[in-house]
Formats: sequence, structure tokens, C-alpha cells
Amino acid sequence: MKKWGLTFIASAMLLYSLYTYVTTLFIRVTSFGIRKKVRGGKGIALTFDDGPNPLYTPKLLDLLARYHIRAVFFVVGKHAERYPEIIQRMYAEGHSVGIHHYEHVSTWRLTPKQTHQQIQYTANVIKKITGSEPTFYRPPWGRFNLATLTVSRPFIPIMWTHILGDWKIRTCDETLSERLRAIPPDGSIVVLHDDGSNPGADDEAPAHMLRVLESFIQEATEKELKFITPDELMICSREPGHVH
Ligand SMILES: [Zn+2]
Repeated sequence: MKKWGLTFIASAMLLYSLYTYVTTLFIRVTSFGIRKKVRGGKGIALTFDDGPNPLYTPKLLDLLARYHIRAVFFVVGKHAERYPEIIQRMYAEGHSVGIHHYEHVSTWRLTPKQTHQQIQYTANVIKKITGSEPTFYRPPWGRFNLATLTVSRPFIPIMWTHILGDWKIRTCDETLSERLRAIPPDGSIVVLHDDGSNPGADDEAPAHMLRVLESFIQEATEKELKFITPDELMICSREPGHVH
């Protein structure tokens, strides 16, 4: 009896790791079914996760508008529902409003059906506010379960080439500036965060991120560095071979 119990536990653990870690590792290493770089692209694509935040997102939108930069926002459906005017503004100013689940929950804790619901609820919220279907999807923490790629269709899963730890105040103040400047302008996709309310993040980190981002954008503009638009990202994502 004891032996059967152990076999059962071992099998359950193996199945769970296939459903979660192994799938995520496989997708990340092979880029199977996802886009993480604009191949052959010139410039950098800016993406922002976890908002909208009533304090920081409008400031970020001001900054992007000042420099005519358009970005992709991966929004949490619940936050979007609470601050529809910020979503409207994103859309009106030419940004792409993407899906980042209805709650900030990892697919590793979701069944296939629940994963689909998190994505679909958020898509519905975005569509209700903007009148337009979202294009892009990014799962929280970039974690996939075995069903994610299937149930997220037709949305295009976008990952990143550069994740910079900006959810911590300390990282923003110490290394963010240097790390932003080190990103090659060859189609890199950068992820930053306009909300700091998730576990492990500092609430006020976006204020620090914004300060560093502003000086980076200022300098990048002087150097004529290009920022890749959501439209360019979409076109490339639909042409196999241009994005990987
Ligand atoms: Zn997130």
C-alpha cells in the first residue's frame, strides 16, 4: 500500500511539472508559439505590464505622448475594469492594450478552463471599453501551462528579450539606467511595470522606473533611437520568419 502511495505522489508530481515548469522551459528555450523579439527589427519595443495604475499609468502616458512613443500595455482585467478611462486613453493615444489575465494569477495555478477564462474575461473588458478586440497576450510572470498556447488563440503571445527587475525600487535606482542603455536596438522587446501592487514588487517602484525611463527616452531621442510601434510588432508577428 505504501509503495502505491509513493508511486501515486511521484506520478502526480511528474504530471504537474510537465503541465507547468517543463512546458514553460520548453516554450522559452525554443520560442515555440510565442514572439520574443522582432527579428530584423530596428529599435526597441516598449511593453508595460500589470496596470493600469491610477497614479503611475497616466504619468507614463504623459511621458510617452511627449516623445510620440507608442507601446504595448499588458493590463490586468480587474484593474482595467476599475479604471476604464485610463484604458480609453491608452487606446486613443495609439497604444496597444493587451491581455495579462483578469487577476494577476500564474497559469501554473490554473486549469485549462480557468486559463481560458482569465484571458477571455480580460479580452471582453478591453473590448467593452475600447470597442476593439485586443491583439496581444502575455501571461503573468511569463509562465505557461500545457494548455496556454491553445486556449489563448487567436491572441498573439508576446514575451521579451529584456526583463530588468524594475519592480524593485533598489534595482530602479541602482542598475535600471545602465541596463536600459545596454539594450541593443535590433528588435529587442523590453518589459517594464506601471504598477507595483503584486507580491514581491515595491508599491512605489513605478515612480522610480518612470524617472529612469524619462532620462533614457530623452537620451535615446537625441541619439535618434527608434521605438518599435505596436503596429510594426503586429505585422511582424503575423509574418512567420520575421519574429521569433
Ligand atoms: Zn505581471
